[in-house]
Amino acid sequence: MWKRRRRRGRQPDTSVPVELCDLCAAVFPKDRAVRGYVRDSSAVHPEHDGDDGLRLVTACGDDHFDTIAEGYRHRPFVSEELWAAKVSRALTTGPTGLTMQQLAWQTGLLEPQIRRGIAWHNQRMRQGQDLDP
Ligand SMILES: [Zn+2]
Repeated sequence: MWKRRRRRGRQPDTSVPVELCDLCAAVFPKDRAVRGYVRDSSAVHPEHDGDDGLRLVTACGDDHFDTIAEGYRHRPFVSEELWAAKVSRALTTGPTGLTMQQLAWQTGLLEPQIRRGIAWHNQRMRQGQDLDP
């Protein structure tokens, strides 16, 4: 019976932080990443609203970053989508049972924006479940 030996030279170097390209999924050292923000109404920061509407893109090089950014340039920026995401964040990360005024304070939105965001979200859910004609 013979033992399987690990080949130390083929093991990945886990001491170097790595990143993943958002386009091709290549793994590369973190210090070689090309990063930038693109406008995206579906993106909200998980904790604060300063970066809402901006998506951080990470790419393996300038060409892939440009390809991703070009895709977002053609994606419509829908205010209702952003408002829905802000409402969702407030409802999933904060206290439960918020009043409309508390929700407005938590999201920084006006009541009509909250209602339009919720309506947009609900319509998308119905479309996703194929309930709309
Ligand atoms: Zn790439």
